[in-house]
Amino acid sequence: MNELAHLHFADADASYGDARYAVFGVPYDGTTSFRPGARFGPRAIREASFNFESYEPSTGMDLYEVPFTDLGDLAVSKVPEDLVDQVADVAGEIAGDGKVPVMLGGEHTATIGAVRAVQPDVYVVCDAHLDLRDELDGTPYSHGCVTRRVLDLGVDDVVIIGARSGDREQFEVAAERTRLYTADAVRERGIAGVLGEVLAHIGDKQVYLSIDADAIDCCLTPGLGTPEPFGMTPLDIREVVRTLAPHAVGFDYVEVAPFDSGQTAAVAAQMVREFIARHWVAER
Ligand code: MN
Ligand code: MN
Repeated sequence: MNELAHLHFADADASYGDARYAVFGVPYDGTTSFRPGARFGPRAIREASFNFESYEPSTGMDLYEVPFTDLGDLAVSKVPEDLVDQVADVAGEIAGDGKVPVMLGGEHTATIGAVRAVQPDVYVVCDAHLDLRDELDGTPYSHGCVTRRVLDLGVDDVVIIGARSGDREQFEVAAERTRLYTADAVRERGIAGVLGEVLAHIGDKQVYLSIDADAIDCCLTPGLGTPEPFGMTPLDIREVVRTLAPHAVGFDYVEVAPFDSGQTAAVAAQMVREFIARHWVAER
């Protein structure tokens, strides 16, 4: 019989047992505050992944030689706290099996579960938004509360890069409890300067790296539920992924709401590929 293809991330052809990385999707946008659609993110990212050559020239790796697998999408609960539990279960199993979870969003809420499972020393997030609200629209598990919940998990070493949106109270919390590099700071200092400082801070600690797609200027990648202009560039994000992947014990790319010409999912897919290639090469 001919081989039947199902939609998976390109080159994610290893068995689960052999895989060092396990990709999974969380097609959820139940708490979206502005424009829904992130539930279609995982599918769009996987589709975009087939546009790229297996060869990843910056590392010299062929992605098909890197052992990673795609577990598919979670059958998501509609209730945000249940969704967080589901993600924690899956990410916990992956991490418990000695693999690195790589999550495709879906809205940012899912990250709370992944961080809870992985228990990193440091949480680094690129996001237009501070996500430091204690509650939004009646739930503490809104995608506007993610960084606050991470702090509540006891992961109190938090680095935020690219933020430019939040109310006064959130900026006060950020100043007090996080290392905040605003989008303006990235522009003024350059991403290399910012990352040099972040790396010195991280040392040999374990990092969870979360990329909220809206960290990037919405004029460049407009497939977003909560678009914000005057943000980071795709090149800035690539530098973050390249620099921090070797330190990461978990990764996600979330908040892709793919109602654009494919730019947002293309950047996401490429960043997933580079994360995996960079992490793999660094271990060797
Ligand atoms: Mn976010
Ligand atoms: Mn955001």
